Amino acid sequence: MSKRDYYEVLGLSKSASKDEIKKAYRKLSKKYHPDINKEPDADEKFKEIAEAYEVLSDDQKKAHYDQFGHTDPNQGFGGFGGGSDFGGFGGFEDIFNTFFGGGGSRRRDPNAPRQGADLQYTMTVDFEEAAFGKETDIEIPREETCETCHGTGAKPGTKPETCKHCNGSGQVSVEQNTPFGKIVNRRTCHYCNGTGKEIKQKCSTCGGNGKVKKRKKIHVKIPAGIDDGQQLRMAGQGEGGINGGPAGDLYIVFHIRPHEFFERDGDDIYCEMPITFVQASLGDEIEVPTLHGKVKLKIPAGTQTGIKFRLRGKGVPNVRGYGVGDQHIQIRIITPTKLSEKQKQLLREFAEVSGKTPLGEQEESFFSKVKRAFKGE
Ligand SMILES: [Zn+2]
Ligand SMILES: [Zn+2]
Repeated sequence: MSKRDYYEVLGLSKSASKDEIKKAYRKLSKKYHPDINKEPDADEKFKEIAEAYEVLSDDQKKAHYDQFGHTDPNQGFGGFGGGSDFGGFGGFEDIFNTFFGGGGSRRRDPNAPRQGADLQYTMTVDFEEAAFGKETDIEIPREETCETCHGTGAKPGTKPETCKHCNGSGQVSVEQNTPFGKIVNRRTCHYCNGTGKEIKQKCSTCGGNGKVKKRKKIHVKIPAGIDDGQQLRMAGQGEGGINGGPAGDLYIVFHIRPHEFFERDGDDIYCEMPITFVQASLGDEIEVPTLHGKVKLKIPAGTQTGIKFRLRGKGVPNVRGYGVGDQHIQIRIITPTKLSEKQKQLLREFAEVSGKTPLGEQEESFFSKVKRAFKGE
């Protein structure tokens, strides 16, 4: 059975601080508390959250988990249900049930159908692909129900039998003496690993676990306008269900490659266009690249650096279909760095004709501000 990553359960990154872990736990445990949340899977989710917190809030267990994940062989059966860390109280499951006064009644039936695990796939797409959408195939490794035994794990023609050690419940009772008196704990049955079944003759295809790892090709339609970090849910494309339960979902998280020239903010595109000071002074018509092809843009005479123009509808189509964004162009006037002798001569003449400052009304007031600033020193 695949377990969800503890960080993922709490919606955190691997670098989350102690404080962030605590906050995420508080928020989620409130949300999924079975006394508040009446959704059928709230109980399951709450347990998952509590278990994740139990490990990530403990420095030692966290370090262990960071290194080994769920597969640490030292953790014994049933994850953290081994009990040794809890002294007389038994495993995590026991504490949980005590907490809710469930006395085992809320314990899940090992034979009940359960949904398969959700999978996450990160897909990196080009800037243009994100803007206009694309259809593509991806291959994901996932666990599927074994076709030979239909998920039972037993050799065709045979059936799994009820585990004699736990009578099919997947749990065994263990009596313990504690300072508070005798406590009866229920633990995962070690013989059947909590499944409640015993497989005498294992299916040779899957080795008895009812599942096989397969690389599955999935056709993905990337919606036009998808943005960095957004995700697409593909229902039923996750891992196969347990005991005939439904398959989990596949979440595709998009990462968008930055563009050399364009920047994107929501549905709008931003870019910077260089022009010469001659174009800026005399005005010109320039060609601007957009995602939708070249567009002509009139530069009025006397254009200043930093001025912005907007091209309506030349941005990214909204992913939910609400129109198309705009393209914003910021003008940058480039000062020439390599001048020929003739160019220099012409500029000197230009300066002589213009005098030191009066280039236009705007510049005049700007230059006098600069002068005043110097005087104030
Ligand atoms: Zn099989
Ligand atoms: Zn058993």
